[in-house]
Formats: sequence, C-alpha cells, structure tokens
Amino acid sequence: MNRHAFLDHVETELARADRHVAGFALLFIDVDEFKQINDVLGHAAGDEYLRLTAARLAAHLRAGDLLCRWGSDEFIVLALDLEPEAGPAASLAQSVAFSLAEVLAQPVKVADQEVQLNASIGIALYPGDGKDAAELIQRAELAMSRAKQAGRNQIHFYRPEMQSDAARRMTLGRELRQALAAKQFLLYYQPQVDAAGRLIGAEALVRWHHPERGLVSPGEFIPLAEELGLIGSLGEWVLADGVAWLGKLNGAAQALPMLSVNVSARQFHEAGFAERCLAVLRHAGISPERVELEVTESLLLADIDGALAKIGALREAGFGFAVDDFGTGYSSLAYLKRLPVQKLKIDRSFVQDVHRDEKNAAIVRTIIALAKNLGMQTIAEGAERREEVDFLIEAGCDAFQGYYFGKPLASDEFIRRWLTAAPQ
Ligand SMILES: [Mg+2]
Repeated sequence: MNRHAFLDHVETELARADRHVAGFALLFIDVDEFKQINDVLGHAAGDEYLRLTAARLAAHLRAGDLLCRWGSDEFIVLALDLEPEAGPAASLAQSVAFSLAEVLAQPVKVADQEVQLNASIGIALYPGDGKDAAELIQRAELAMSRAKQAGRNQIHFYRPEMQSDAARRMTLGRELRQALAAKQFLLYYQPQVDAAGRLIGAEALVRWHHPERGLVSPGEFIPLAEELGLIGSLGEWVLADGVAWLGKLNGAAQALPMLSVNVSARQFHEAGFAERCLAVLRHAGISPERVELEVTESLLLADIDGALAKIGALREAGFGFAVDDFGTGYSSLAYLKRLPVQKLKIDRSFVQDVHRDEKNAAIVRTIIALAKNLGMQTIAEGAERREEVDFLIEAGCDAFQGYYFGKPLASDEFIRRWLTAAPQ
C-alpha cells in the first residue's frame, strides 16, 4: 500500500476507533544497516532484499492489520483492534512488534548471499500518543530513531520526553557540525604501560569542549557524529592532531613510543581511508610504525574481504592494528585468524574484578592464550586495581591501560607526568 492510501486508512481508523472506543498502534519499522547491502552487494540486491522484507512482513501480519512501504527501507504496520487503555494496548502492540522483528531477523538469500539484518521498531498508540495520522506517524518514527540510537535491533514506545530530547539532539547536531571548524575538540592521552610499568604508548581520546556546556562526553557526541556522517572528518582530525602532537614531542626529554588512535567502522569503510591515513602521517613526518589504529570487531560485519585488504595495505605501510573492546562484539574466530592485527585489547568488562570473578578470569586467560597462539599481543583496558593488575601479569598479559596506571590527561599534563626526565 502506498503512503497516500495508507494515510487515508489511518484517518478512517481514527474515526472508527473513536466510535467504538477502541485503540490501534502504528509500528514504524526501519531495517538496521540496510545501506550495507547496497554498498556491498549492489542496488539490485538491495531492492530484492526490500521486496523480500515487504513480503515477509505481509505474510506475518495479523488478520486485518495493514502494511505500508513508507520509505526505501521503512515500513509501517497499522495494528488494529487494540484496547483503548494504554497498558493492554501496549502489551499487544509489543508482541506484534516482537514477532515481526523475529521474522525480519531470519536470514534470507539475496544475490546468492545469505543476508541477515535486524530492524528497529518505534510504536505510537492511538488514542494516547497523537490526535491525527501525521502526528502518530511522526511519533512512531521518533520512537524508532530512539531505538536506533540505543543500539539498534530494539523496540521503543513513543514517550512525550522524546520530543524535547529530539530538539536537544538537533541543536547538539548543529553545534557538532560547527565544532570541527571552531576547533572545539581536543585530545586527552591515556598512558599504556608494560608489565614493569614502563610507558609504551598512549591512546588519544577525543573530548569536545563546548563553549557553553563545557566538556561533552564522547558517549554522547560520538554516536551522534556517526549518525550525522561526521565521524570520518572527526576521526581524521583525531589522527592528524594526535600525530602532530607526537611530532612535537620529539623535543621532549623522552619521546612517546607509540600513539593509539580509535577508528570507527564507518570511518574505516569510507573510500580513501587508507590513503588519507598515509597522507596525514607523511604530512606530520611521523613513521606509521609509531601509530596503532584501534578498530572494533564490527568492522568485519560488512565487506570482510575489503576490510582485510585495507588492513593489509596499512599494515604493509607500517601501521599497527589493535582490536578494541575485544570479546564484546562479533567474534568469529575464522575471521580473527585472517585478521592481520598484532594486538587484542581485552575489554574492561572482563578486566573488572578479574582477580575474584572466576568467569572473567577464565575469559581473560582464554583471550591471552588465544592471542599468544595467534602470535598477537594483549593489552588490558580499564585496569583499576593492584589485584587486577597482579592477576593480569601472572596470566601473561603484555600491557595495561587504566586508572591504576594513569587516567587520560590533557597534553601538557601528560608531558609533565610521563615524558619529563625523571629527577636524578
Ligand atoms: Mg580504544
């Protein structure tokens, strides 16, 4: 059903629901990471996937419910005959959403490839959440985008505070676009040490110094930058500023051996990423051997061969690679085997309490053994206590980063604390 006919239906149902003291729900469904299919398998495959998606949704609707293809990878389901009270209506709408999400999560064959994508779903209820079709759809869509922001593959109900959140995010988004030009970002550096406590490197961590809000946390602006397509420019700025700093440090009493820089999956997959990294280092006069790119396992969710080739080319040029937050993502050992990285960063969630949490201890030992057998090194993230560090050293972990050794510091402080010659 097209948009126009669908809107007519919703208006009809509004009147009918009012007459019969009933309710209904609008489920706004958006396929997660759909763009990847177009990017990797081509537009014909993308269209085929959407046709199959529409067919699968249609085949699993309850009798009487309606489906509309709203946008390219957006669908709306009108779930009818609900209770007028929000509570019972919400639980039924939620079960409808769950079953549709489950249907979509089944793998399908497209262009001879097995494709598995999830969906984010936002729900708005009538009569509670809006007075007409346009308002209900806008609110269901808002709830859907909130589900995306919360990590995708989720179902969210519309809540009134989402309106003000959305307004705040819009402002923040506009300011984020200006922040790069206005040079409001700065880097903090967190030391990385070996088992003897010697400095082996630092991770560059970006901070946003907002003129009015003060320091905005990366947890808030990094996902927004990804969403707005700004992560590529931000990531490049981090690399450029970090290596420029590394260059300046050559005058300090001690040089910093190596700098780690985070690279998001989206940034990594952008065309020309490898070339731009090389250009930035050439410009700064820094050898790629002194830079380690931290990537996450999600890098390998799409275009694995392309990703491996890109990493291979950068490795060839001298860059180091570490897998960040290792153990929390999409860990396929088959890919790990092919991945030309030399370091695994053990995620902080496993490091926490590792000396007394038996499960964490088992996971950490396994990761270290795996790394050793694959010829890789390990660095533990989030090491905060002596006991954790003792355990990690005993288990054979090569390096450490965390509050126990040092928190992220602004450049001057980092130099004072870590790079000034020790008093005789
Ligand atoms: Mg990192």
